Amino acid sequence: MVVYCLQNYQISFSFLFVSCLVALSGCSNVPAPSVLAITRPEVTKLYIEVDYENGAKPYVNLSDVGADLELVQENLDVLFAASGKQVIAETDVDDMENIGEIEGETFTSTQLLEISNRHRTFVEDVTSTSIHIMFIDGFFRDEKKDVEVQEGVVGVTIGDGGTIAIFKPVIAQMDRSQSETGTLLQRYVEQSTILHEFGHAVGLVENGIPAINDHHDDCEECDEEEAKERSGHCENPNCVMYYQNSGGLGFENFRFQVRFFQGDDASQRFLLFDDDCQLDLQTALRGEQGEDEDDAS
Ligand SMILES: [Zn+2]
Ligand SMILES: [Zn+2]
Repeated sequence: MVVYCLQNYQISFSFLFVSCLVALSGCSNVPAPSVLAITRPEVTKLYIEVDYENGAKPYVNLSDVGADLELVQENLDVLFAASGKQVIAETDVDDMENIGEIEGETFTSTQLLEISNRHRTFVEDVTSTSIHIMFIDGFFRDEKKDVEVQEGVVGVTIGDGGTIAIFKPVIAQMDRSQSETGTLLQRYVEQSTILHEFGHAVGLVENGIPAINDHHDDCEECDEEEAKERSGHCENPNCVMYYQNSGGLGFENFRFQVRFFQGDDASQRFLLFDDDCQLDLQTALRGEQGEDEDDAS
């Protein structure tokens, strides 16, 4: 079973300009093909189902413009825009299901898959597929590692069936405020984590979807462990698919966008995926493989 995880943001603040240094150390895995069916021509709809455990509800956007997970919604809209395919995501908290209290405070990937199987309700057919995102009020426990609880892991993608878990306490602990709306930092981390795990679930980078341009992070000078962590990721440090996301720029942009654009100006849409990752996914969604690009007639 392949598990991708995104972990351990380290944050520093200065007073007026809130900036964050984000260190995501470790998505430690060997990639395996995990392309969702959405890249197949006959599959035209991707449904993103979001469930949350009691106490782990996603942050609510009180601006009443845009979805609660507005950054997620905007990125999905852009990625799917020219594909002729539809993405329907539960990005408003009102559309998500509260799955109640789940026993336990730490969860292995096997347990998370079981929880997903119990609560996943979208029924796929020949023309549709789905991703299941669960907000968990607890922490990840890696069966394969000696470390019992991974308190820095923000999100994981498990297996190849589009199962994603987001560990809410890790996000909440990143800032002192614990409001229903979250701080900008908490909101940014929550939504960029969803997008990073979404990227893994649909086959980025070179993990089922071919890379059109060479941007897979193969670090030749790295030791084996680091090379493994980088595998399946983008080599661009400004891309949400980077293995260790230095999110300062992203966070500044998000903050700017939240205040001034509220997500309703298409020309100001804010993408966390760099050009290479966008191109890979958009090409795969159109059913092309990056060959015969000149054959546009
Ligand atoms: Zn990752
Ligand atoms: Zn990228």
